[in-house]
Amino acid sequence: MNTPKIEFDGVDKYFGEAHVLKDVDLEIEDGEVVVVVGPSGSGKSTLLRCTNRLEEIQGGDIRIEGQSITNPTVDINFLRQRIGMVFQSFNLFPHKTALENVSIAPIDVKGLSRAEADERSQQLLTDVGLEDQADSYPNQLSGGQQQRVAIARALAMDPHVMLFDEVTSALDPELVGEVLGVMRELAEGGMTMMVVTHEMGFAREVGDRIVLMADGHVIETAPPEEFFENPRTDRAKQFLSMVL
Ligand code: ADP
Ligand code: MG
Repeated sequence: MNTPKIEFDGVDKYFGEAHVLKDVDLEIEDGEVVVVVGPSGSGKSTLLRCTNRLEEIQGGDIRIEGQSITNPTVDINFLRQRIGMVFQSFNLFPHKTALENVSIAPIDVKGLSRAEADERSQQLLTDVGLEDQADSYPNQLSGGQQQRVAIARALAMDPHVMLFDEVTSALDPELVGEVLGVMRELAEGGMTMMVVTHEMGFAREVGDRIVLMADGHVIETAPPEEFFENPRTDRAKQFLSMVL
């Protein structure tokens, strides 16, 4: 058995008195797409944010490719290079073109020359269907295009895993599909992904496993057909009755 790409081992997270992740155990294998669903406030974003130490955990451990992220000797910048993250808000640099947005981290962090970085970035923009938008500024792009630039920007660091937190939630409905399409291609290319989404069609079709969170707990983990057709827990049945 290979080492899992991501392991959550009894993870506890508090915000002050509030216990928001409760003894979370979860393993994500190489190339697996795990879709995390659950009601608002259940801890989905916090779980992702703890994974690249945007938030600290108070108990348990998280390991990326077998390496504990809480180890005091861990190089946090190196860790974050391995983990690409895309959020609901695209947060592109407004005064940089799409190409410059994608190239900036490889130049600043990886030390690539501008020419090398730009060549790579142009390919990444092509991969997300934006080959003609390299010189556009964010305000010249639709929300769906901006989110695809944000995905290309995350991929530019050659991450080993990708985390997506409700990346289509802020988009007009007609733009959701183009972003999910890029994520589907990435999944089909073998990327290890953790995806928080309300898009149940995507969860069912692209997810290898569904994880239901509620009130800081992992309630149920199952392959999509099982989760959607035969949920085991009342909590899962209740959740599905709300969203389907
Ligand atoms: P979800 O993404 O599932 O909607 P979150 O992970 O954002 O849930 O939030 C889980 C719980 O943690 C919620 O009760 C939320 O209010 C709380 N929370 C999230 N971020 C913070 C924070 N920075 N400070 C205090 N409480 C927070
Ligand atoms: Mg959230």
